[in-house]
Amino acid sequence: MTITRPQPKPWPKPWIEQIRAYVPGKSKSASGQPLTKLSANENPLGSSPAARAALAEGHNPADYPDPDARALREAIAAVHGLDPAGIVCGTGSGELLHCAVQALAGPGDEVLASRYSFSLYPLLAHKVGATPVFAEDDGYAASVDNLLAAVTPQTRVVLLDNPNNPVGSFLPPSEVARLHAALPSDVLLVVDEAYGEYVDPAHQHAAFELAARHDNVLVSRTFSKAYGLASERVGWVTGSPHLIDLVNRLRGAFNVSVSGQKAALAALGDQDFVTASRTHNTAERARLAEAIAALGNHGVSASPSEANFLLVHFDGEVTAAQALDALSDAGYAVRHLPSQGLPNALRITIGKSDDMTRVIAALRTLCGEAA
Ligand SMILES: *Cc1c(COP(=O)(O)O)cnc(C)c1O
Repeated sequence: MTITRPQPKPWPKPWIEQIRAYVPGKSKSASGQPLTKLSANENPLGSSPAARAALAEGHNPADYPDPDARALREAIAAVHGLDPAGIVCGTGSGELLHCAVQALAGPGDEVLASRYSFSLYPLLAHKVGATPVFAEDDGYAASVDNLLAAVTPQTRVVLLDNPNNPVGSFLPPSEVARLHAALPSDVLLVVDEAYGEYVDPAHQHAAFELAARHDNVLVSRTFSKAYGLASERVGWVTGSPHLIDLVNRLRGAFNVSVSGQKAALAALGDQDFVTASRTHNTAERARLAEAIAALGNHGVSASPSEANFLLVHFDGEVTAAQALDALSDAGYAVRHLPSQGLPNALRITIGKSDDMTRVIAALRTLCGEAA
């Protein structure tokens, strides 16, 4: 017997109806066993001891935080050679990406991104009633030509995660500049550099310079990844005074908590931790990539990545679903993304060295090779 219920009231706007809640990375096996999470791109080294000490100091929870995160903005500006007035902090960079889309797009407008990009992007478009549009990739990397071909008179915002999630592919500064140069000046280019600290330091400043020179470029960064402060929810954007003003009007009033501001400020002062995180990531990512390449005769391969994860493709006798189960049996949660059109791939976060050794052994065993 099926019970039919009347449509619940109040009923949302049609664009809200289309939203599917963001699906975070798993941390439990099918049987409920806790797993080591290699599914959410968290920092396996934890966070800076300086940040932990700042959090341990505590604070009076009765007081509101500084609404403008002044000290934190000044410290960010000092580290990156930016103007503190050109920075806004947010409850993670996610809040600020939402503000940027909300400021410029609405019903009838289009928000453009690459085929394989952050799963939050379509949600941001739907939230404001805009239509998400996806440009085909070129071999799992954003294609500037395809993005430009997808621009229409309705395009208001282009969201470019660089390096991108879930592939880890990186568009060099020259390509980002080429994309920007060919965009109409009334289209906002958002360069989401959530994994920016993991790329070659020589390439880390180019997007900031683009944002400083042009009125239609916003660059976002986060403390959630290389700084290891995902639980504190702190991110920031930089751009022209006009864009900064728009984001400031739309963000939450006291959006970054006292502990978030303190931890991020202390973490900025420990750049050695960020460097150690990048060094560890580069080495372990190369080791995993080499191990995957050695399984090439089993149809297993990884896309090139500049981020803190690898997208591993299973195109042979072993399927991604089998690998997901085998890694779960070995104690690891990784990300299977059939909902993003990647049923034959797993996104594996680069973890601690011994965990990566066990992940490699589990994949080798699954392929019938000696662990
Ligand atoms: C993890 C991630 C973020 C960070 O989100 P926060 O809200 O700052 O935690 C932003 N963009 C991309 C592409 C990401 O993968």
